[in-house]
Amino acid sequence: MDKRTRFGIVAGLIAGGLAQAVELPPVTCDVVVVGGGSAGICAALQSARAGAKTVLVEAAHQVGGNTTTGGVNFPGLFHAWGRQVIAGAGWDVVTNAVALDGGKLPDFTKPTGRRHYDHQISINIPLFVVLAEDALVRAGVTLHYHAAPVRIEAVPEGWRVRTAATGDTRTITCKQLVDCTGNGTAAALAGFERLQEQERQPGTFVYHIRPNADLSKFDAKELQARFDAAVKDGQLHRSDCRWGLLQYLKSGGNTANYVEGADNSTADARTQTNLRGRAAALRMFRFLKGIPGLEKVRLESMSPEVGVRETYRVRGEYLITHEDYTSGKRWEDSVCYAFYPIDLHDKTSGVRPAHLKEGVVATVPLRALIPKGSRNLLVAGRCISSDRLANSALRVQATCMATGQAAGAAAALAAQRGVTPGQLPSAEVKALLTAHGAIVPD
Ligand SMILES: Cc1cc2nc3c(=O)[nH]c(=O)nc-3n(C[C@H](O)[C@H](O)[C@H](O)COP(=O)(O)OP(=O)(O)OC[C@H]3O[C@@H](n4cnc5c(N)ncnc54)[C@H](O)[C@@H]3O)c2cc1C
Repeated sequence: MDKRTRFGIVAGLIAGGLAQAVELPPVTCDVVVVGGGSAGICAALQSARAGAKTVLVEAAHQVGGNTTTGGVNFPGLFHAWGRQVIAGAGWDVVTNAVALDGGKLPDFTKPTGRRHYDHQISINIPLFVVLAEDALVRAGVTLHYHAAPVRIEAVPEGWRVRTAATGDTRTITCKQLVDCTGNGTAAALAGFERLQEQERQPGTFVYHIRPNADLSKFDAKELQARFDAAVKDGQLHRSDCRWGLLQYLKSGGNTANYVEGADNSTADARTQTNLRGRAAALRMFRFLKGIPGLEKVRLESMSPEVGVRETYRVRGEYLITHEDYTSGKRWEDSVCYAFYPIDLHDKTSGVRPAHLKEGVVATVPLRALIPKGSRNLLVAGRCISSDRLANSALRVQATCMATGQAAGAAAALAAQRGVTPGQLPSAEVKALLTAHGAIVPD
């Protein structure tokens, strides 16, 4: 080997050993929204539409979070007791997706009684993704997919957010930060308190099977006996199909499973949760194929991720209690309505929705979107400041959209005025929201 070749190999080894992620040019903006689920889409849209230079940092490959990546494509509830209580940025994307799909909205004038889910809106996931993305781009939001903050420091201008992504790193300096991660991750990185329970509600993996069989020929009891026997001999887990095997087959899909301990607040937890969800789908599929008459069953599609119901909540300047929620309490700084039954999923007994009393509609104060003791920071979506029972209702998508839009409005106004969100007169936040089509409590 001559001298030049040896030099080349050594140089190559050194260069390989020192290879680093690409450092992208720094970015300066008014508002950074972390997490692009139902809350984050609306926060970023509202912030940008109010004239703030807005960056959306999303760890996944698309927007929508649980609504799209988690397969929970039935947002609710926008109406209560015969009137619309949530509108604005989220409602527009949802109804545009339905219209473009040639679909139909539920009849919101028809009372639902205990069937609150009749007023949820079924949406086409790909259309929701592309329409939300199109709206964000047209509003001027800069999207950073596959990225997540790894360090968040307070600086005189507001925040310095260090992000890492697949192959690159970046520093973003912003005036206001909005945490829409569903887990309070950005608030925790910035040093603020998160609340969590000893035990979490289970997640659910949404996948779709096609039985390819005449289901009228199957006996519900006999099918269930097969399922029970498979659970007994360890082939299946009880949580793989919770509400009857025939029902599961008839629904053509499966939201009837529970993924115990589901958590997506770190990449590692997210990996384990998704492995467990997909393993459950595989168990069920193999089991179904072994049932005479179901040999042609097909696993048609599955969501990219397990839907997660509960991880952390941020402790805010105000914590919404169960009593606040069920009594429909209003505050001077109530920025949106919220409407859904209390919906706590228990791993043994399943879900027992507790409906609100006739005429009651809950509200959310701006202070529940401000982490306690923080400056220049807001939180929206599933992880807003609330106790566990209140949160089991507040976490639904229409409410996440409404809190997202409210947080986006407060962030943009605070950035433009050079104040913190807590210093804003709530009347100004409400006026901005109303001007952008949101419904705010009087
Ligand atoms: C199985 C199931 C059934 C449900 N049923 C209904 C229903 O019928 N109707 C209804 O309205 N709601 C329902 N919900 C609740 C609802 O879907 C969620 O609570 C809601 O979508 C949460 O929205 P979000 O924007 O707060 O969070 P998410 O949807 O979780 O979005 C958070 C986003 O942030 C991103 N993210 C997370 N961490 C980071 C990070 N560190 N950096 C960058 N990005 C990050 C995620 O990738 C994700 O895109 C259900 C939920 C589940 C799981």
